Amino acid sequence: MVNAAIQFDAAASSASLHTLGDLKIKPADDLDREDLRKNYTQRMLSRTDRAARDEYDKLKDAAPLGRCPLCGHRDVETLDHTLPKIHYPLLAVVPTNLVPACLKCNMVKSDTDPSEAGEQALHPYFDDIGKEQWLFARVIEEAPAVVKYFVVPPNTWDDVLATRVRGHFKTFGLADLYGSQAAREMNGLRHVLRRKAPSMIGPHLKDEADGLADEDPNLWRAVMYQALAGNPWYINGGFALE
Ligand SMILES: [Zn+2]
Repeated sequence: MVNAAIQFDAAASSASLHTLGDLKIKPADDLDREDLRKNYTQRMLSRTDRAARDEYDKLKDAAPLGRCPLCGHRDVETLDHTLPKIHYPLLAVVPTNLVPACLKCNMVKSDTDPSEAGEQALHPYFDDIGKEQWLFARVIEEAPAVVKYFVVPPNTWDDVLATRVRGHFKTFGLADLYGSQAAREMNGLRHVLRRKAPSMIGPHLKDEADGLADEDPNLWRAVMYQALAGNPWYINGGFALE
């Protein structure tokens, strides 16, 4: 297990988790494999094994603001195995293989494991992609206004990272998740903007966009305000259509 953990960390930090196939066949004995998985299902998830449960809670609480790092939106409720324990029993309780997640993302990912570099899900401990903007949106000029999200990888990224982020965005259904959140936010925003002088609407949207981008340029809200602030149709009355 210790060796497997070392191999996992090395692969995760070099974006090569798809190369750990040899760990899948270890140990060979089915009962040993099941025993390793039980360290997670019967000890870490247990309410009575305090030490193991504390470890579980500590990992779960590591997500900033309790926000699921996979979708960047919903609340953390569980731990997700980056490489699933069904295929990699040696990694069932390796801390770096366990990332905080919401139930939906955990379910979406299920038992999938990457067979090539571009299929690796983003790993919050090893893949720090938060500083450059990769999430963008455009305004669809209809009544009511709609915001559609898409990925534009920064040109400093290599092809593998760009493919991984596009895959991550698709797998976790982020266009739909962010689109429906934005629709709700814009429904409330309409009432706020109606109370403002027309000349203040653009600056208000830009302020919101800049403030949120300071926190994280890839928050769906930051990107929504950025798109709205850059759209003259929306600013000049599109916001009021319903
Ligand atoms: Zn999630």
